[in-house]
Amino acid sequence: MIRIKKSLEIPLGLDTKYNAEDVCKQILEDQYEKCYLCERYLGTDYQVDHLRSQANYPLLVKEWSNLFIACSYCNGKKGVSFDGILNPCLHNIEEIIEHSVLFMEKKVVFNSSQLSKEVRQTIQLLTILFNGKNGLRTCREQRFYDEFIRKINVFQYAVDEYMLGKKEEYRPMIEELLDIHGEYLGFKHLIICGNPVLKKDFEEFLGWNK
Ligand SMILES: [Zn+2]
Repeated sequence: MIRIKKSLEIPLGLDTKYNAEDVCKQILEDQYEKCYLCERYLGTDYQVDHLRSQANYPLLVKEWSNLFIACSYCNGKKGVSFDGILNPCLHNIEEIIEHSVLFMEKKVVFNSSQLSKEVRQTIQLLTILFNGKNGLRTCREQRFYDEFIRKINVFQYAVDEYMLGKKEEYRPMIEELLDIHGEYLGFKHLIICGNPVLKKDFEEFLGWNK
């Protein structure tokens, strides 16, 4: 999960309904066609998600700053239980929450030095998305995780080869995978920042939506 910058111009269709065509189109553009929670490409599988849920915050149903787009997997899991997560327009989430993968243990860990209620709830939601509810994944959760691992492995491989000395060969690929359109940037952020050499060489590519 990373910071998001929403368009300052509010789509006219929002006067009628929160998921009007122009509303969806603008949010998709603002989010570079990715789910704001898991950072997957959305394709045709997207839903307008209310950061603060419709059920608990009826006055915010058509509030532009409350609307994001999520994949159906994430939207379903968020439901009405996570109304207190960090607002990605107000925080550099990739800097507040460390996103790391324990490849051997087949799980994902989210950590933060900040212990606010918002941070804790965001970590709780992200943990469920990537690890399943009690650390045991259903078929769908396992497919979600496998897709994520396949893609993050490509990045990890490029970074490993770069560190092994194939700098010129792998630099263009790493730069491309760090583009704002790329998936899972929250995870890539830690991979880069966790290594002093990579941080020095690629830090300029981490300025997403700042
Ligand atoms: Zn998602």
